[in-house]
Amino acid sequence: MTDVILESFRRAGALLDGHFRLSSGLHSPGYLQCALVLQHPRAAEALGTAIADQVAAMRPEVVLSPALGGIVIGQEVGRALGVRAIFAERQDGPLTLRRGFALQPGERVLVVEDVVTTGGSTQETIEVARASGAVVVAAAAIIDRSGGNQRVDVPFYSLASIALPVYQPDSCPLCAQGVPITKPGSRAAHS
Ligand SMILES: [Zn+2]
Repeated sequence: MTDVILESFRRAGALLDGHFRLSSGLHSPGYLQCALVLQHPRAAEALGTAIADQVAAMRPEVVLSPALGGIVIGQEVGRALGVRAIFAERQDGPLTLRRGFALQPGERVLVVEDVVTTGGSTQETIEVARASGAVVVAAAAIIDRSGGNQRVDVPFYSLASIALPVYQPDSCPLCAQGVPITKPGSRAAHS
């Protein structure tokens, strides 16, 4: 599955290999932008169905995603499972449920993201659900870019796993090798 997913991302220009300056200022040999795949509704639907197939046995009753990155794929997973899909968003700091979204005590929640890097925002989303008394049965992402090192305290599923390290600019091995750096989104980034 990983190879098929990653190849489709490469074809869409959503996964680039090279030497990139990310918006965080860190450097990385890989650039990943799920939105470039998810902009195609049929592709988004297929990815959502694939995640739903992985987690259906956990019998989730609602999908919860962190805004903005998780909203589109969360909607598609909810569609495939036949359950509602809601999202948490930041307002002055922590992720919270707004817009009248609510979880019931004991409700079985699946947390869905597009990409998991360290698991930090996934875990924060899990805590949002628990604060409502809901039960988080699993978390899932399209791509785990930690290479399997994400830290979440529920069963975790991904359609693809890839290790895309990030470096401080002053300790970047690609800079040390003199590899030219590109900003993601520029055409020159596509080799
Ligand atoms: Zn560098």
